[in-house]
Amino acid sequence: MKVGIDLGTTYSTVARYDKKTSRPEVINNQFEKELTPSVICFLDNGEILIGEDAKDMQAGGAGTIAASFKRGMGDNSFTVEANGKVYTAEDLSAMLLKKLITDAEAKVKEKIDSVVITVPAYFNDFQRTATIRAGEACGVKVMKIINEPTSAAISYGYTRESNKTVLVYDLGGGTFDVTLVKINKGNIQVIGTDGNHLLGGKDWDATIVKFACEQFLEEFGVDPRDDESAKNELIVASENYKKVLTKSDSVAIQIKYEGYSGKYVLRREQFDMRTQFLLNATNDVCMKLFNDLGKSWKDVDEILLVGGSTRMPQVPKFLEMVSGRPVIDHADTDLAVAKGAAITAELYCGTHTGVREVQIADVTAHSLGALAESPGGDRYINEIMIKRNSKVPSSVKKPFKISPGNPTDVIEVYTLQGESKIPLDCYVLAKVVITGFYNDGNGALIDIEYTYDENGVVKVSAYQDGERLEVVSEPVPEDISWMGGSPSANTTGGPVMKNVVLCIDLSRSMRNSLEEVKNHIRDFVIAAADENTKIGLIGFGDKVGIMRDMTGDTNTIITALDSLKVNVYGRGTDASPMGTAMSMMANRPGGKMIVILTDGIWGKRDFAVSEALSCRNANVAVVGLGIGEADISFLKQISTVEEGAMFTTLDRLGESFSKIARALNSGSMGMRESSGESMGRLGSAEVKGRLR
Ligand code: ADP
Ligand code: MG
Repeated sequence: MKVGIDLGTTYSTVARYDKKTSRPEVINNQFEKELTPSVICFLDNGEILIGEDAKDMQAGGAGTIAASFKRGMGDNSFTVEANGKVYTAEDLSAMLLKKLITDAEAKVKEKIDSVVITVPAYFNDFQRTATIRAGEACGVKVMKIINEPTSAAISYGYTRESNKTVLVYDLGGGTFDVTLVKINKGNIQVIGTDGNHLLGGKDWDATIVKFACEQFLEEFGVDPRDDESAKNELIVASENYKKVLTKSDSVAIQIKYEGYSGKYVLRREQFDMRTQFLLNATNDVCMKLFNDLGKSWKDVDEILLVGGSTRMPQVPKFLEMVSGRPVIDHADTDLAVAKGAAITAELYCGTHTGVREVQIADVTAHSLGALAESPGGDRYINEIMIKRNSKVPSSVKKPFKISPGNPTDVIEVYTLQGESKIPLDCYVLAKVVITGFYNDGNGALIDIEYTYDENGVVKVSAYQDGERLEVVSEPVPEDISWMGGSPSANTTGGPVMKNVVLCIDLSRSMRNSLEEVKNHIRDFVIAAADENTKIGLIGFGDKVGIMRDMTGDTNTIITALDSLKVNVYGRGTDASPMGTAMSMMANRPGGKMIVILTDGIWGKRDFAVSEALSCRNANVAVVGLGIGEADISFLKQISTVEEGAMFTTLDRLGESFSKIARALNSGSMGMRESSGESMGRLGSAEVKGRLR
């Protein structure tokens, strides 16, 4: 049997195509539910619970909980440790998939041998490959990976005759995706896609937690958010309060904490008002997509709602208001993705009966480029080969010229994924080495071809005079910091200098977490500071203060760290530390990075964003680390690296700092100073860049 699986961040669903009814149908789990929570619980006695049982434990706080691990797919530094074993997101996804498959098999009493798994459109090559591997680890064949919004469009569109342009608006538990699709008699063509993968239903839950805790604090002088387990309990409860507000006009919220008991009524109007900024954020993403595609709401015939969070009445109301377009009323809000995958699974089995011919044309969510030399030869750039929102599968071939006078017989090609011209702002996906070509030193030509396959996985090929050349994959080197430097940089490989300014939020809300934060920073300083890596320390609140100027001396920094106290720069967060951090590092040799640790919402956000832009222009990397109540989409805006805004919890702060320490060493977070080595380089015939 073949099934489609929606492997969601918060909930997952299995569906199959029923040949008798010619319709996709969901296979319920052992509890007769369509959706299975994407949660795993490791009990202390070694037992592992997956799905419904695990979610029950999440509220109670027993055992080790792994949830939302889809966010860590393809990222080896994301791990969950339980009972002495370390699990990656891929391992956890494999365990969840196994459970979903076993449950479905038990339900329909048939063996599942092949699956189609859906992934967010923005998933990159690493994340897609990790998803395929997770599926294969369960012993099934992964026939295909398809994009979630595309899958939803298939489920909606495969029976429709009309020629319509549909905007798929997918608001899930932790992610938001928007995709413009043309549906014409089973022919499904994706025009473009964009998203914000830090925005989702959990942000709506968080506003309820905030609403209730602020009143509780006002009334009793204690804040349940100060206690990790009370807070978690409230987060879980708030999801239910939110669902009540989907059906009713108001909900009564009850909090019991430290012997006090508070009861607060939240009306739907209030809730809608308090969450308006989140809806606006989804609209920003739609506008960005329209901008990219040269389209507007006028080009949209209908809006298709996907994802559990679109159940909230505010969503269709808001969309109808801003777009003036009809919102399709359909019952499959959170099942459409799995059903589309089931249809796709049937289509790809080759012997399908009953399914009408469906053609799917999807697009890439990211641009794909090659590391090249800038026209002036003074720096490396990302030379885009396949633009984002290009149709998949697709391939592009471009001729490149080996620099005249360079007798090399080996060429390295680095594949970059991302929109920025700056290589270190992109993911370095892969490295291949090309040999076996002819080069007389007079500017030999080589054709490089990039291919995006149907699953969104990337391949590189090379040709000379139409003959295929040998292309061998090599691991991407640990240290890629030279990509931030000059191609003609000295080749002696001297030490790479690095500068890091740590900016710590000292506003009042940090009072309970500061000591623990200090502990993590202390570990980081011990691991990172040395004569080549200078660290500076800034505290900020309503004002900014330099606590310690740049130094490589561990003890000096730690002494300054130990003296940090809350409220010394005001109780709020009206200041922005980036300008001060920049001035501390000005005129210093080496790569530069600013790490901002905050737990609150800043007053002058526009100012911070413009400061961040100056940092970017000056090649200074900014990494925003948010704990607690931090505004993640804001942190993402000020972070100069794609994965820079790392929302974390106090428990996981150590992990985030080790990630930064590793990135410092590998140069993978935008540290821009190089000690390059000289390799074969290509000068481009068509493109004005040269491949390294
Ligand atoms: P994902 O694809 O990220 O796993 P889903 O599409 O399953 O997410 O949506 C899960 C989100 O939808 C959660 O935040 C959940 O609280 C929310 N949700 C589900 N049902 C409702 C409802 N009736 N009202 C409001 N939100 C809901
Ligand atoms: Mg989903």
